[in-house]
Amino acid sequence: MEKKQSRETLCVQAGWNPKTGEPRVLPIYQSTTFKYDTSEQMGRLFDLEESGYFYTRLQNPTNDAVADKIAQLEGGVGAMLTSSGQAASFFSFFNLCSAGDHIVSSSTIYGGTFNLLAVTMKKMGIDCTFVDQDAPAEEIAAAIQPNTKVLFGETIGNPSISVLDIEKFAKIAHSNGIPLIVDNTFATPINCRPIEWGADIVIHSTTKYIDGHASTVGGVIVDSGKFDWDAHADKFPGLTEPDPSYHGLTYSKAFGEKAFITKATVQLMRDLGAIQSPQNAFIINLGLESLHLRMERHCSNAQKVAEYLAKNEKVAWVHYCGLKGDKYYDLAQKYLPNGSCGVISFGLKGGREVAIRFMDNLQLAAIVTHVADARTSVLHPASHTHRQLTDEQLIAAGVAPDLIRFSVGIENANDIIDDIEQALNA
Ligand SMILES: *Cc1c(COP(=O)(O)O)cnc(C)c1O
Repeated sequence: MEKKQSRETLCVQAGWNPKTGEPRVLPIYQSTTFKYDTSEQMGRLFDLEESGYFYTRLQNPTNDAVADKIAQLEGGVGAMLTSSGQAASFFSFFNLCSAGDHIVSSSTIYGGTFNLLAVTMKKMGIDCTFVDQDAPAEEIAAAIQPNTKVLFGETIGNPSISVLDIEKFAKIAHSNGIPLIVDNTFATPINCRPIEWGADIVIHSTTKYIDGHASTVGGVIVDSGKFDWDAHADKFPGLTEPDPSYHGLTYSKAFGEKAFITKATVQLMRDLGAIQSPQNAFIINLGLESLHLRMERHCSNAQKVAEYLAKNEKVAWVHYCGLKGDKYYDLAQKYLPNGSCGVISFGLKGGREVAIRFMDNLQLAAIVTHVADARTSVLHPASHTHRQLTDEQLIAAGVAPDLIRFSVGIENANDIIDDIEQALNA
């Protein structure tokens, strides 16, 4: 039996396997289209009778190599890159839901995903109920309705730094005949592989740690191949009944364990078109090559910064799941034993105004609408990313009005701490 390669090796090597004489480095196939010798051959591609490239909106070799690397890292059977993390979230939901359906989601999720579920998808006739992910299983299960098609949560919540009990969520989903979708953006496959704990679909905003340099917006959807769509055929007709837009092809029959990701590609990407550019996929691949090294440093730096903040008398509270005594410490030990992420949330004594003054005084840490890249950065969600939320929604999302989201980079930890100290004293 072939030995499975470790994540470190997959980060560097997986996805692109050049044959003799071919480029060692993944080439950028900057081509919208691909040439065929006969018209009949190309016709077979359109009927999905043969696989092959014909138009980059559907598939591109650069994108496929990077998607394959991420699929291997997550332990899935296939993946698809999208133009952004938002597109990955929407596609993963919309691949399973249509008007009249319902989603159950943890409330401690990224603000953009919250808006997508609470406002935009609601306009499409897809409702969402938000639940407290720390509630007992029976309470969460009670939110599931006959028309519920998805259970959703984030491995590590942005920005609350909550840790999802993935096994608990997977059990709730599966005992109700629905898949669990997990957004693994903050943990990355280096620190957690949700599929091993029962997740069926994993998504990422690759904009964050996977790119890691704040240069490329992107997303990815990974299919575990494990959910048995035919066993719940009545719930998922889109996968188990003929698709009129492909002459009556049925995804679960034609593509087996790759039914979900194939439908997402050939139907949703074909029709909605949020494809990632091959140029961006190339940049993401460069990020992936050092992901394992960067995550190690992000986590060790964040641990030092969190410990410093926890001891500082000007700090009112700190949330970092690597801190002993943190609400999520035990779950982090289970799901994230090698480290969680570089993001810390904390509040200062004096609240919102003091927080804003502190941020303005930082010099090394920059105020940016970003998180999870090599440079230390900071954001005040209540004034920025979560501005649209009411105070009640803010609290349900785990975002206290005084919460500072501090994204620890891969610089020297002492320099980051010195910067925080001078800003606190200014
Ligand atoms: C940023 C983010 C998203 C959205 O990703 P974009 O690439 O900005 O569209 C989704 N989920 C999480 C957890 C994020 O941090």
